[in-house]
Order: sequence, then C-alpha cells, then structure tokens
Amino acid sequence: MKDATRVIRAGLPGVAQGQPFLPGPTFAGVYHLSGDPDSSTYKYGRYDNPTWSAYEKAISELESAASSVVFSSGIAAVSATLGVTLKSGDVLVMPSDAYYAARILASGFFATLGVVVRFAPTAGDAQLNHLQGAKLLWLESPSNPQLNVCDIALLVKAAHEAGVLVAVDNSTSTCLGQQPLALGADFSLSSDTKATTGHSDLVLGHVSVSDASWGDKLRAWRTQMGSTPGPMEVWLAHRSLATLDVRLRRQCANALTIAEFLSSRPEIRGLRYPGLPGDPSYPVASRQMTLYGPVVSFELASRELADEFLKRCELVFEASSFGGVHSTAERRERWGGDRVAEGFIRLSVGCEDVRDLVADLSHALEIAHGK
Ligand code: PLP
Repeated sequence: MKDATRVIRAGLPGVAQGQPFLPGPTFAGVYHLSGDPDSSTYKYGRYDNPTWSAYEKAISELESAASSVVFSSGIAAVSATLGVTLKSGDVLVMPSDAYYAARILASGFFATLGVVVRFAPTAGDAQLNHLQGAKLLWLESPSNPQLNVCDIALLVKAAHEAGVLVAVDNSTSTCLGQQPLALGADFSLSSDTKATTGHSDLVLGHVSVSDASWGDKLRAWRTQMGSTPGPMEVWLAHRSLATLDVRLRRQCANALTIAEFLSSRPEIRGLRYPGLPGDPSYPVASRQMTLYGPVVSFELASRELADEFLKRCELVFEASSFGGVHSTAERRERWGGDRVAEGFIRLSVGCEDVRDLVADLSHALEIAHGK
C-alpha cells in the first residue's frame, strides 16, 4: 500500500455493522474492574486507554515499529526515552544544535542525576567522534531550527558497533518524511504537536521502538511519571493522520517553491532547506528522506528588519512551533536558546496556495526594506 492509503487506514478497527470507521474518544479515568486486575487490558485511566491503543497501533503500522507509546507532549516523549535508557554515570551524545528544550533537559535534569552529556554538531556527522563508551546517541535530523542533516544509517552502524543505542527525534519530517527505525535506530520519537497532526490545536508526542521490550519500559515510565495524554487529543491526532500525506506533500512542495523564491532575493542570507539542491544538507537528505519537511530557515540583516518583515506578512502568522496547515514564522533568537543570528527566521510553510504565499513574502520583504 502507498503512503496516502496507509495513513487513511492506519489503526482502524475491522468492519463492524453500524459502527463508525474510527470510534470516538473513550473518556475514562476509571474502568469497571472486578477481581484480578490483570483480567482486563484497561485497569485505570493513567495506565491505558482504548483511544491511545488505536493511535499507537496506527503509528506502529506507519513506522513498522514493534511498539509505539503515546505521551502527553513531545518533550514527555523525549524525557521518557532518556529516562528509560540512562542512569547515573552513563554517557549521552547529543547534537549541539538539537531542539533547545531537549538540550536543557539533558544538560540540566539528567546531568544533575549523574548522566554525562557530550555535545557535537549534527552537520558533518560530528557525533561519530564521541561514541566511545557512550550509552545513548541522540540524533535530530533535520535539526530544529538550523536544518542540518546527519547520515542516520552511518551513525547507527557506528553506534551499534560500539554498543550504543540510538534515538532519533523525527519531529521535523514525521514518519512519512523519514523512517528512523528502517534506518536502524532503536527509538524514533516525535512531537506530534507538529506536522503529524498539523492543525495547531493540540500538544502530543510518541515514541516508536524496534524492540517491544523498550515499549514495555516506556509504558511503565508513562504510568509511573504520569505523562499521560488526554483521550480527546489522541483521538484528534488519529483523525488528523488520515490527511497527513495530503497535508505534508502540499507543505513540502510549497516549502520548495518558497525556498527557490527566497534564493533569488538579495535581502536573504543563510537560506536553508534540505530539499533545495545546493543546500549543504541535500546530498544526505535526498538519500534518507522521502519528503523534506515544511520548515525553511533564513536570515535578514538585522533584528529590526526581521521583526518588521514578520509584522508585514499577512498570510504568515507570527508564532512558535511548525508543521501546521497555517504558515507561521518567528525570529528564533527571541527565545535565547539557539546559537542563531538576531535576524534568523524559521518559516513553517502551510497548505495555502503557494502563489499567495510568495506574493505575501515578496511584499513583506519589500516593505521591510523600505522599497
Ligand atoms: N523535538 C523537537 C525537534 C521540537 O521542535 C519540539 C518542540 O518544538 C519538541 C521535540 C517538543 O515537543 P512538544 O512541544 O510537543 O513538547
């Protein structure tokens, strides 16, 4: 089956007369439970929920995973993966350009517990030189927000030869754009707040694994730490999966057109899009990704110009996050967590008609530059 078909059928129950295609959310804190608790799959709302099970089945189908576990947010999925793999004294190798909250979690909370964190850039597969004696290699490709790409299969091979587990944060591409488990990774995780669900109306995350025993550990972590998602969010996510192929293909096609447009503009520096031939990420990205994602990044000459440009865009909302059907952009340096220039802009391209977007961006660039 092709992707567009798979996302529509993923996780649906069998045909049953008079039943909906996708049953509605199960709102339950408590279930009827008599006698031996193990006689029922659903014991208590923090432990499990049929709406979670259906979404996890869908994600496992799409990632060809042994098991998938849904969490209350992307960062809950990150902390669960770090939490089940690392203990005091273990070494974690992290991208120095990974999502800043993941870096803070590693160098703050986990370092305080005694985990040793080594940082190296995504570009040039620089993490290869830091694997000796490590327990977990963390990859984020393309990295957020600078869109560097590493060779996942190459890094996985080197890591496994050195006895190191590999987790890939796949939030920027989603399971349709890139399949970390097929490239050999042990963990593939995602902020489903982004393009996986794509409507900017929920916060959610998941982890998929190639060995089901990690799924059991992640589930136990979720139960014990209480990083449980709401059934409504999970149901909305499952419903949104059906349009993932349609949304993401349109977003990626739009992103490429916009990257090409921006590459012709004299006001733009440091343009990055992994799908743009000529981008430093392109050679590896074109081998390991099937779609290049909705995010484009670039710089304007100053903070003032970038702020003015964002103010002048009418079809691009100024907002954080990425991957939604509405185009959004922000001056990333305003958060302070990334080593980027003050005029650095992360643009997430939506599903609008790209002709409207190009006209809007062109107009905003001209007004901001006083033309
Ligand atoms: N991973 C990446 C690459 C992200 O960009 C984000 C959020 O922006 C997260 C993880 C965390 O996801 P959430 O905001 O859903 O907790």
